[in-house]
Amino acid sequence: MSASPSPVPMVDLRQQYLSMKESIDKAIAESIDATRFIMGPNVQAFEREAAEYLGVKHALSCANGTDALHLALRALGLGPGDEVITTPFTFIATAEAIAYVGATPVFVDIDPNTFNIDPTALPAALSERTRAIIPVHLFGLPCDMTAIAQFASEHKLYVVEDCAQSFGASVASKQTGTMGDIGCYSFFPSKNLGCFGDGGMLVSNNDELAEHIRVFRAHGSKVQYHHSVIGYNSRLDDIQAAILRQKLAHIDTFNTQRLRVATRYCKNLSDANLQLPLLKSPVTQSAATSVFHQFTLLTDRRAELQQALQQADVASAVYYPIPLHKQAAIAAHLTKASHYPIAESLSERCLSLPIYPELDDITVDRICAVIKSVLK
Ligand SMILES: *Cc1c(COP(=O)(O)O)cnc(C)c1O
Repeated sequence: MSASPSPVPMVDLRQQYLSMKESIDKAIAESIDATRFIMGPNVQAFEREAAEYLGVKHALSCANGTDALHLALRALGLGPGDEVITTPFTFIATAEAIAYVGATPVFVDIDPNTFNIDPTALPAALSERTRAIIPVHLFGLPCDMTAIAQFASEHKLYVVEDCAQSFGASVASKQTGTMGDIGCYSFFPSKNLGCFGDGGMLVSNNDELAEHIRVFRAHGSKVQYHHSVIGYNSRLDDIQAAILRQKLAHIDTFNTQRLRVATRYCKNLSDANLQLPLLKSPVTQSAATSVFHQFTLLTDRRAELQQALQQADVASAVYYPIPLHKQAAIAAHLTKASHYPIAESLSERCLSLPIYPELDDITVDRICAVIKSVLK
């Protein structure tokens, strides 16, 4: 008899570390040896390399993805009285950042196939106070940026892309994060590009905005000990930047491996009674491919599936169980009570399966077999 198969987590950070252990350990040791822990040489080098990879003029690292969103809205000068349109189906940080600057989140419902902002819902959310849109490339699938950018330019709105889940995702060779005014990234350990702690970054092609971001992230100073505005202490550590440089060199491989896992899930589960996630954006067709931060399906039998997976020692997760307009913290900031039926319905039916570059085909097949045994 063979031993029972090992448990499958949602993400296995240890496997990725072990696959790069030598180069990462060396990079960390060198960073420690240089003892330039804050804004050291790895930070400058990572910003340069990330900007080059993304094809953008400025990349500015910061302490985490939530700060990136907050700094973006500060750099744009948003504040009380301003409204910012975003999706209710995202991690809370997207809306928290809006509340941090005293602005008001206004939600629009999502497209049930992409889980992203439905551009046709934008006109109804517009008011004379609307200043910006924050599209979220959820689970790694690019939003319909052509429609969003067109709407934004017609109504003179800023676009801040939340790319926390989409590092490396592109639309017709343009990277997510480079199609609006500012792109915001998170390097939380489990993101597509993750460090060994918290980290974040903003990107922009606009010189003036980049300068504002640079000042805000460093205590409101351009010249040390000269403070023009109240800023923040939001920086990426040199050690984290050293790790990110090593991982950035492999990001395309990581994302290709995620796509392999997602494609295999889709193939194996095509005849199960489920709505599977799209491998490609329906709007831009072949031009936009998901980087599968999550593999999220829709099912009416979620509880049963989760139980069966748990019994088989396979992790699963619900991203996200409560849409933001129903979160107490956010509801308090809303000026208009509203319903977003698609986001509400999806939050009751969504289920995310394990996905990470190192997840092998045999394990994917095993997970699919558990699912099919429930749905047969
Ligand atoms: C992770 C995440 C964030 C926040 O990033 P942190 O680095 O954890 O602060 C923001 N938006 C989305 C969509 C995320 O998934």
